[in-house]
Parts: sequence; structure tokens; C-alpha cells
Amino acid sequence: MNAFNFIRNALLFRMGVFSAMRKLAPRSFPIILAYHTLDPPDFLKSILGIRYDSLDFEQQIRYLSSHHPIISMDEFLRWFSGGGSIPENAVMVTFDDGYRDIIDIALPLFRELSIPATVFLTTGCIGTGKSLWTNILYNMLYHSNCKNISLFSGKDTPLNLDLCGSTEEIASGVRKLTGALKRMDDRFRNDELKSLAKQLGFSGLPDPHESLPMLSWEQVKMLSENHFTMGSHSVCHPILSECDLERQSSEIADSRKAIEANCGTSCRVFAYPNGQPEDFTEETQRLVELSGYEAAFAFFPGVIHPGRNRYSIYRHPVFDVPLATFAAALTKRKWHAIR
Ligand SMILES: [Zn+2]
Repeated sequence: MNAFNFIRNALLFRMGVFSAMRKLAPRSFPIILAYHTLDPPDFLKSILGIRYDSLDFEQQIRYLSSHHPIISMDEFLRWFSGGGSIPENAVMVTFDDGYRDIIDIALPLFRELSIPATVFLTTGCIGTGKSLWTNILYNMLYHSNCKNISLFSGKDTPLNLDLCGSTEEIASGVRKLTGALKRMDDRFRNDELKSLAKQLGFSGLPDPHESLPMLSWEQVKMLSENHFTMGSHSVCHPILSECDLERQSSEIADSRKAIEANCGTSCRVFAYPNGQPEDFTEETQRLVELSGYEAAFAFFPGVIHPGRNRYSIYRHPVFDVPLATFAAALTKRKWHAIR
């Protein structure tokens, strides 16, 4: 964002213009926000150039709760199926992956404000002490003294990453590297990660579970008893469109079984790992439906119309933004990710 927009948003925000605009021209469709970790550890801040922290999250949620009706997944599904209404300017809050900071930061805040939320769990990381491979990668890059790495050793065009550049250059290089690794078969990716660990001076793959812990099943149960709806985000977080149908089916069905067995309630909703249009196919959506889910959510924004495809519902990723930018984004009629 340029300096002019930043200052303009800050001024308009202080004058209360954004909330007034939403009252004058209310939205009839809800917005579904998608968060990840609420208090990123240093390795994520440094490697991905994130400035966001738990204070930003708290400010955003307090702002939402005083200016918007916040609806639950039940209310949303009822409205989407034509069986109920929702207030104008409604917002639903969701969290992906299942980081433990939901217990430390979101639970007390949401309890205090009496508002609901939904968590999409990557079940293979719940209660196992295992981190997502992306976080293992970022953690290795942060803790290594090696400043230049080369990946895909067996390929003609290896991917080089220079860790001496500016924060923006490093973050952009790391995102490129992660994007390439995400599309690889699990076995090849694991080999590449091990080869990278060697280059970076590690004897194994250092798991950042201590600095970025995931939820335990006891904590998941506690959330589910406190107005948090539990949904699935697969078992291992693969890009489903890159998997064969058998693997897709087990990722979708087994995660649901694990959530139901541990929470004792029905798991009705799914969120696609990575969630971009190319990350799930019509076959994927059919498998989600066959597994018994009532709806599935993407990770890109758009206007939600009730009755449309219930297995590809838009969400609005929330990235690294000050409160004024967040408030300005909520006012827009056409939506982009909030960054
Ligand atoms: Zn995810």
C-alpha cells in the first residue's frame, strides 16, 4: 500500500467514515474472514516479512464486534440453504490449520464478546507435536547461518534463494520456493527438504512446534464446547488437486472421522488446503460431498450468493494490515484479500 492510501485510510477511519458508509449502503451478503496464526513467532515474521501480531488481531475483532453482526457457521449454513435470514453486513470468522494461539488469544476474546467462530483443523498436526512442513521450512531458513541456498538438486534449473536481501526480497523468494514445493509429491518434497536441511547445517528436520504449537485434542474439545465450530482442513494439508482420488478421499474422510471421534459432534464443513481455484477440482468437491460434509470453503474472496455451489464458498484471507486498512476493506463492495 502506498503512503497516500495509508494516510487517507487512517484519516477516514478516525472520522468514522467507513462504518458510516456501511450503515448507509449495507451489504446483503456475508463476508467470511480467514485467519491463520494470531501471534506469529519471530521466524515467521522474519522469513515472510509479517508485521501482524495478536494486538492487531484483537483490534480487528473488537472493531468487528462493535460494527458488525458476527454470525456462526450454523446461521451461515441455514441462510445459505434458504432456511433462514442473516443481518445486513454480517461477518463470519474462521481460522485455518489449528494453531494453539486460538486458545490463548481468540478464546478469551471471543468469550468476552460472546461471538462465535469456526476452526478448520489439519488433523495430522493436532495433538501429535508435528508442524506443517511449510513452518519447518521457514524455521530452518531463519535459524541457519547459510545465506545462499539451492533447491531441486537433481533438476536442470535449480531454484536459488538469497537470504542476504531485503525483507521483501527474502519473503518473495521464500514464497516462490514454497509454491514450487507445495506442488511436489510428498516423497520428493520430503527429499528436497532433507537435502535443504543438510545445506543449512541441520542433521534432521527441526520442528518449530515449541515456538508455534498446534492445538491438542483436549483444547479442540474445549473450543467446541465454547461456540467454536470445528471443521476439517484435511489430515496432512496437501494440495488436493495434485493427489490421486484415493488420497484425496482419505484426506477428506479421515480428518472428518478424527474430529467427530474426538469432539463427539458432527463435522459438517471442510476448507481446502491452500484453497486457490486450481487447488481443488470438481472431483474433489464431489468427494467432499460424498464424505458427508454440508459445505466447503475456498481461500479466495468473492460475493457469496445463497444457493450457489456449496462446495466452493468464498472466504477473505486477512493478511498483514493496520486497523484502518481493515476497516476500509470491509467497506468495499468488490472484495480482494485484505492485505
Ligand atoms: Zn491451511
